[in-house]
Amino acid sequence: MPFTLNEKLKDLQPYDPIEGEYPIRLDANESFLEMPMELLEQAQYAMADIPFNRYPDPYAKELCASFGAYYRVDPALVTAGNGSDELISIIETAFLMKGDAILTVAPDFSMYRFYSSLVEAKSVVYQKGEDLTIDVDELIFAANDSGAKLLLFSNPCNPTSLGLNREEVRRLIRSVSALVVLDEAYMDFWDQSLLSEVEQYDNLIILRTCSKAFGMAGIRLGFAVANPTLTRALRAVKSPYNVNSVTQKVGTIILNSGEVLDQAIAELIGARKALYQAVKELETAFPEKLHVYDSCTNFVLVRLPDARRVFDALLEKGIAVRFMGDTLRITAGSPEENERFLENFKELLSSSTNL
Ligand SMILES: *Cc1c(COP(=O)(O)O)cnc(C)c1O
Repeated sequence: MPFTLNEKLKDLQPYDPIEGEYPIRLDANESFLEMPMELLEQAQYAMADIPFNRYPDPYAKELCASFGAYYRVDPALVTAGNGSDELISIIETAFLMKGDAILTVAPDFSMYRFYSSLVEAKSVVYQKGEDLTIDVDELIFAANDSGAKLLLFSNPCNPTSLGLNREEVRRLIRSVSALVVLDEAYMDFWDQSLLSEVEQYDNLIILRTCSKAFGMAGIRLGFAVANPTLTRALRAVKSPYNVNSVTQKVGTIILNSGEVLDQAIAELIGARKALYQAVKELETAFPEKLHVYDSCTNFVLVRLPDARRVFDALLEKGIAVRFMGDTLRITAGSPEENERFLENFKELLSSSTNL
């Protein structure tokens, strides 16, 4: 008998980022800022101190202490991961049994449902309304009605760029019996984090990442923050050496550079505001061809009658954005990148009658 892939694997496709060389990449919500020279030098010097023949610290203590100092949370509540992606995978594997219901919202980050399919959990999806906002009462109802063991969503949301304010999220967490995983990947761009009160909840895990606001997507570093019981469980199920020595070292240097981080965040927010403003003006000029959603992240989402054609035309000009059905998600780039995008986008909107 030939070997065959099992049911849950046979139709899976490898992750497929945009292939090819595009001079302007506004498709992955990365930071456009390169690592400042002073930090780069510190990181280079630090390499000499790494005992490469030894396994890394399984609890990444120094790194978690730096995270705790920057965000003012107790490091004992912090678990480091090989990107928050790894933490999402660990959490779903650990907190779901086969057949358990997991509730996600749509649209949201696609990885949540990918991992739940591997765990053979039962996926329940709350569909957001036309305006892409979440009605918290409806979501609470969906969580309790489905008996969901896990509720996982991003706030602010990727891809909608909209956020739920703190009070609404508190109400949600307190009203459901599910474990709530609150992915705050973009919360550095907004001010409604629940990090400082995470210990007050028995059913909350908050995820953060160094990939977006901190411009460190390349080192793969994310964090889970939760009360001691949940933290103990997370540390018990993760693979022991999940965060490598180089990432621990570089991550510590970055997180110890609070002023540099704050300045970078301010610059990224400035770039997004400028991009949003310019797209908003295009919406006024072409109301029937374009709708832009509010943004509290480092990207903007636009709805277009023919998003596919605009996406393809931009790619031809060397500009990559994220195509998502009837919307495009555009990461705020450097002023020059935004300018190039806007020029081309405007031309496409003005030249075509039936976009
Ligand atoms: C980018 C992103 C992440 C991934 O973070 P990594 O730490 O790079 O794995 C997680 N959640 C959301 C919503 C994201 O957009």
